Amino acid sequence: MSPTLALTEQLIARSSVTPVDAGCLEILRARLEPLGFVCEILARGPLLDAQLGKGARSDDPQLTVTNLWAKRAGKARPSASATPTLVFAGHTDVVPTGPLNQWGSNPFAPTYKDGRLYGRGAADMKTSIAAFVVAVEEFLAAHPDPELNLAFLLTSDEEGPALDGTVWVCEELQARGETLDYCIVGEPTSVKQTGDMIKNGRRGTMSGKLTVKGIQGHIAYPHLARNPIHQALPALAELAAHRFDEGNAFFPPTSFQISNFHGGTGASNIIPGEVVIDFNFRFCTESTPDALQAKVVRVLQAHGLEFDLQWTIGGLPFLTTPGTLVSAVQAAIQAETGLDTELSTTGGTSDGRFIAKICPQVIELGPPNASIHKIDEHIAIADIEPLKNIYRRAIENLASPSKATV
Ligand SMILES: [Zn+2]
Repeated sequence: MSPTLALTEQLIARSSVTPVDAGCLEILRARLEPLGFVCEILARGPLLDAQLGKGARSDDPQLTVTNLWAKRAGKARPSASATPTLVFAGHTDVVPTGPLNQWGSNPFAPTYKDGRLYGRGAADMKTSIAAFVVAVEEFLAAHPDPELNLAFLLTSDEEGPALDGTVWVCEELQARGETLDYCIVGEPTSVKQTGDMIKNGRRGTMSGKLTVKGIQGHIAYPHLARNPIHQALPALAELAAHRFDEGNAFFPPTSFQISNFHGGTGASNIIPGEVVIDFNFRFCTESTPDALQAKVVRVLQAHGLEFDLQWTIGGLPFLTTPGTLVSAVQAAIQAETGLDTELSTTGGTSDGRFIAKICPQVIELGPPNASIHKIDEHIAIADIEPLKNIYRRAIENLASPSKATV
């Protein structure tokens, strides 16, 4: 069995349902320390009462988040420029299984069928983590003293609230003055075949909770009431039709979507007193949260609405324009698979948004994502070795930048 497959099996066998790591990071630490990595486990439980901001944290092991920061210093470069740092980032936690009786096999017992490996986390993203580690092992066996610092930033808090994982470790690294140059996140980005798509950015996400106030009354006496549904609809129609921006070469236009619309008392003879609407922006680098919020408020005011509006910014957009890292990864994919990879910024958010704050070049590359978060999550065996080889080739290209031209 290939070392990548064997390590993937070991990780899938740990039932690390978010935020529990279930010992995955200790397995990885045991692989990295013999390679010369200095490993730190950074753990913390969630705030007991975030509202009060008292700072007390739960010590319940079922809630504790575990993070691994591992770094191996490379050789100084002969030129004046500092030795760059490449970090591999990802998560050991997985989403819950859903109904076990719907799975074809135990989600935490690696199972082979029809050329596929089944198990929770097979695609999102335990195979990527195993491939990172084996790629680094192979690279260091061939190049024991590279002019490249290597690092791992792994967390068990990506699929949950994501408050005590990568975002916190990045704050710690920033406080220490740690500098990162290139980051590869192992999220499953491919469509049909490993390497056919990478993410070189992600849109931002911002949600709004809008309460439009009216006056409750008898439906037969509308002149004595004020219908907030009738009042809200034209404003919402205007927002839904509005082009907030045109996007750019890397991003589609910002989108506004309503996810929930709640109003009415349940009775058919009452005009409700208020209506509550949840909406979300997926926004690109052409729009800012401030500008989007201001536009929404202007539209609501122009329609004469009495309203209350609360905002939650889930993440800012990030973009890595083609440069050293994109070229190194494109060349690695081309050499391994013959594919011209597609650059994309679609899909949900990822921890890349936190890393991008302290690392100028971040891309995401992993196996096909068609089965992630589903019953019977799996990865094709044929996708595994190419993934590891692409990662190894990317390291080689970044260790000797003259090779990283496409
Ligand atoms: Zn993931």
